[in-house]
Amino acid sequence: MSKSKLLILGGIILAILIIVALIFFAQQKSKTNSLPVVKNLKPHVYKDSAADISRISLKVFYVVPANQTAESDWQENIRITLSQIIRFHNVQFHNSSSIHASLYQSPVILEHDDSFYDTNNTANGNPEGLRNIVPELEKRYAGFLQTDGTDYQVVAIVYEGVGASGSNGAMILSYSYLSKPEYKLDGASIFYHEFAHTIGIPDRFNFSDNAALSDDIMGSGRYKPLASQYLGPDILAELGIGK
Ligand SMILES: [Zn+2]
Repeated sequence: MSKSKLLILGGIILAILIIVALIFFAQQKSKTNSLPVVKNLKPHVYKDSAADISRISLKVFYVVPANQTAESDWQENIRITLSQIIRFHNVQFHNSSSIHASLYQSPVILEHDDSFYDTNNTANGNPEGLRNIVPELEKRYAGFLQTDGTDYQVVAIVYEGVGASGSNGAMILSYSYLSKPEYKLDGASIFYHEFAHTIGIPDRFNFSDNAALSDDIMGSGRYKPLASQYLGPDILAELGIGK
């Protein structure tokens, strides 16, 4: 073999070695850069995998019956509570579901007195108030209630009256839970408890004697500070989170 042929062969071998080395180092680099595989969570309404809740549009109203007076600090107290429940929700859902809250900018003065909305069924959290007020809001604030078609829609009524109740898509909570000193520790927990009903999560206590069936926020935890609270693993499983 001539000297020039030897040089060409040597050059080719060297080039191949360099290419192999480059591929090897590129593979090592991509290994160290790759993150652990994150499970693709698809959060949904409790026991309803077809109802996506990865984006929740939460429309909040401060609602005052005609015979009551709006408090001056409603906006600040509602905003503080909303930021707490949004943070709690993100943690529980591992950031796979987000709440996009908007608070209507002025108090809603209802057309009737509280006796019209509350009726006599306030024992179980004033579900009548919820059923009576929502249609009035839908009629008067259709524009504000409009959202992107893909969002899961929830209406939250913070009520200058009695009650704490929630069902699919709507909740009502007495403003006293956000303003009175005796609810300073657990007011946000009670708000999230009612919100949890809007995505289908059931209670974990007996209505007859109030005995808790779980320690989490759907049971006895609803009366504890939100920072200490959680959604139980069995509940998360029915929401498409966890195992
Ligand atoms: Zn409940």
